[in-house]
Amino acid sequence: MLRLASTKTPLAQIATRHVPTLRAPAFTSMPRLYSTATEELDLVVIGGGPGGYVAAIKAAQLGLKTACVEKRGALGGTCLNVGCIPSKAMLNNSHIYHQTQHDLKARGIDVGSVALNLPVMLKAKTTAVTGLTKGIEGLFKKNKVAYHKGAGKFLNANEIEVTGNDGTVSTLKAKNILIATGSVPSGFPGIEIDEKKIVTSTGALDLQEVPKKMVVIGAGVIGLELGSVWQRLGAEVTVVEYLGAIGAGMDSDMAKAFHRTLSKQGFKFKLSTKVIGTEQLADGRVGVKVEAAKGGNAETLEADVVLVSIGRKPYTEGLGLENVGIQVDERGRIPIDSEFRTSVPNIRCIGDVTYGAMLAHKAEEEGIAAVEYMNGGHGHVNYDVIPSVIYTHPEVAWCGKSEDEVKKSGVAYNVGTFPFAANSRARTNADAEGMVKMISDKETDRILGIHIMGPNAGEMIAEGVLAMEYGASSEDIARTCHAHPTLSEAFKEAAMATHGKPIHF
Ligand SMILES: Cc1cc2nc3c(=O)[nH]c(=O)nc-3n(C[C@H](O)[C@H](O)[C@H](O)COP(=O)(O)OP(=O)(O)OC[C@H]3O[C@@H](n4cnc5c(N)ncnc54)[C@H](O)[C@@H]3O)c2cc1C
Repeated sequence: MLRLASTKTPLAQIATRHVPTLRAPAFTSMPRLYSTATEELDLVVIGGGPGGYVAAIKAAQLGLKTACVEKRGALGGTCLNVGCIPSKAMLNNSHIYHQTQHDLKARGIDVGSVALNLPVMLKAKTTAVTGLTKGIEGLFKKNKVAYHKGAGKFLNANEIEVTGNDGTVSTLKAKNILIATGSVPSGFPGIEIDEKKIVTSTGALDLQEVPKKMVVIGAGVIGLELGSVWQRLGAEVTVVEYLGAIGAGMDSDMAKAFHRTLSKQGFKFKLSTKVIGTEQLADGRVGVKVEAAKGGNAETLEADVVLVSIGRKPYTEGLGLENVGIQVDERGRIPIDSEFRTSVPNIRCIGDVTYGAMLAHKAEEEGIAAVEYMNGGHGHVNYDVIPSVIYTHPEVAWCGKSEDEVKKSGVAYNVGTFPFAANSRARTNADAEGMVKMISDKETDRILGIHIMGPNAGEMIAEGVLAMEYGASSEDIARTCHAHPTLSEAFKEAAMATHGKPIHF
């Protein structure tokens, strides 16, 4: 029986949760940019990343007099400037380069000699970044958000001192403050970052030549994405990971498959291995001293560039939290309640600087929800279905629980898988590595987790997120018509495999 999502209680609940109480007045006179020193604003947002800028726009749309303070000199935060966007520009273009070199001939496309023009590739990345950050400035103007280029610091719970990038100092007064100051790369104890030979993700996005040998410390999302970029452009990449698996806690079946795939592409992995430190070698390169995680088997890996990608930490430096009595927890995060309030009720906090996954879309969701609560309405963030994506080729994407987590929870479950090798579109495109895996509750058939490794997995996971948000069963998806020939038929067939049997495998 097809269970229509629209008849189920969860949707009704979601619908009511989604409706904010709009108490804000509509603009009646000529719009203007708010925030003069004497005028009290409704909201000051500190940090113009995906959490902060989205919150500022939403607040202005609800009619709140809003200003956003950002010290970087450009809006968009980590994501647009040194994160999601530049990394995807490099991933996309390095993939095209690699495909042109290794794949086009078999498709009947002969090209002459193929050469990398790294300065142009880096410029294309910068063009993408600049266009998008300027676009946010345009959105601020359109929505009447006042943009202050400078560092914000609490004077008290209602006043923010802004030290402008031009040196001027001013004060903004506001009823509400939203902290969205994000995160920065975590350092590795004893390893000094110079952003040339020993780099964080920021330096790895701007290397001026392709390293012959690159050592990546940490097999999480950022390490694997940026390792992929430089591996495709010609580097020999070795990834050192303390844990016994790659992929930062992804479903272990997917992690194993992904490990095999990246190894085939040329990645070398040293799992269950710890880094002891680095040393400068006589030839100017860097030696990375490693040994087995349990001890023993010490060796030194030689590298032209070492990427330290062991995670990120919340950023609150210079924010003046001490002036309002807000304390951070043992991991540097600002504690919040379920409506994003800090220990000071008119100061809320969202994004990387507080709890949860450090992801741009999670920060955005929180930004909107926090502003809706602030405005007297209800916010909605469903932390059970925040998607994760690794933008390698093939991509890996997932939402909900891994099979390991479901097993641990003790819930009885069904699993269905469907390989892209049995999907007509993937086969036709000669791009058929990977599979879709679905996990549902054995008793109710409600979907508990979806894991995809394959072409366009990052787009396909949106269907899974939507299904899970509406509390769908695997049968719901199995009975939903999917266009032929598309990759998404593999998604439907995985649902069929979970609920019963697939047709094409
Ligand atoms: C290489 C890389 C790739 C990534 N790829 C992805 C991806 O594909 N998808 C994804 O979802 N996430 C990705 N991320 C993570 C994503 O960038 C972050 O989760 C996201 O940017 C967090 O948003 P935020 O608004 O909380 O903070 P941020 O984006 O860090 O923004 C905070 C802003 O606050 C400013 N600021 C800090 N203190 C002050 C102050 N006192 N005054 C004024 N301004 C201040 C900072 O300058 C910064 O611009 C990636 C990150 C990296 C490093």
